[in-house]
Amino acid sequence: MTFTIGCHLSCSKGYENMAREAASIGANTFQFFTRNPRGGKAKDIDPADIAAFNRLAEEAGINTILAHAPYTLNPASAKPETREFAIQTLADDLMRMENTPNQMYNMHPGAHVGQGVDKGIELIAEALDQVLLPEQTTTLLLETMAGKGSEIGGKFEELAQIIERVDLSEHVGVCLDTCHIWDGGYDIVDSLDEVLEDFDKVIGLDRLKAIHLNDSKNPLASHKDRHEVIGGGQIGLDALVAVTEHPALCELPFFLETPHNELVGYAEEISLIRSKREKE
Ligand code: FE
Ligand code: FE
Ligand code: ZN
Repeated sequence: MTFTIGCHLSCSKGYENMAREAASIGANTFQFFTRNPRGGKAKDIDPADIAAFNRLAEEAGINTILAHAPYTLNPASAKPETREFAIQTLADDLMRMENTPNQMYNMHPGAHVGQGVDKGIELIAEALDQVLLPEQTTTLLLETMAGKGSEIGGKFEELAQIIERVDLSEHVGVCLDTCHIWDGGYDIVDSLDEVLEDFDKVIGLDRLKAIHLNDSKNPLASHKDRHEVIGGGQIGLDALVAVTEHPALCELPFFLETPHNELVGYAEEISLIRSKREKE
């Protein structure tokens, strides 16, 4: 079994460049924003870039990639024009994803901004019903959140309720962010087994498709969402390595979203995690 690990990369120089960067830091997967993370227009997809990416990805053993929606989208907004913008962007991104078929697209579910959790869940499910298509090959992932402000997705139950409401739920999965669930109150340091049992009972581990591997600057249940470098935060290196080795998780792709300004920081983290795993 291959351990699949990578990090968040800049998409500004295209797909081939991301594959080259990933390979250069010992990664065999990567995550990228489909467009400016604050929204805005996406760059046109260049078929030559996709072809070059496909060749390089095969050479480098990159089988999985994960796109991330702009984090400013809010399909649960109280404003119809904000919801409509989210739906247009998600639909456009999902269409673009079909240029690299059978991959994954991650989004933050949204924030109910005072309308209440139930209303938020209803609006998110409605938006997903508008953007998911039966023939699409992309799996849309809902990210587990820290429960900051009126964010939806800080509890496994909220994600389960969204998925239950979506017609084409076979196209929907979950991306688990270790910093977010720790901040949300799930103790993955002392009770990883119990947290995963809970996830399985509420959502189903078959829905879990990717892990964001981040340390957290803040203590358990702080609801803050401030990522820290691996081993530099409150979760710690050992607990994060244990996440990558857990039998229910070890075959999933892992994505670092830790604060680094340079690729070398990610390269060091990837080799650190690989070396810790090899010692087992
Ligand atoms: Fe995210
Ligand atoms: Fe994340
Ligand atoms: Zn985060």
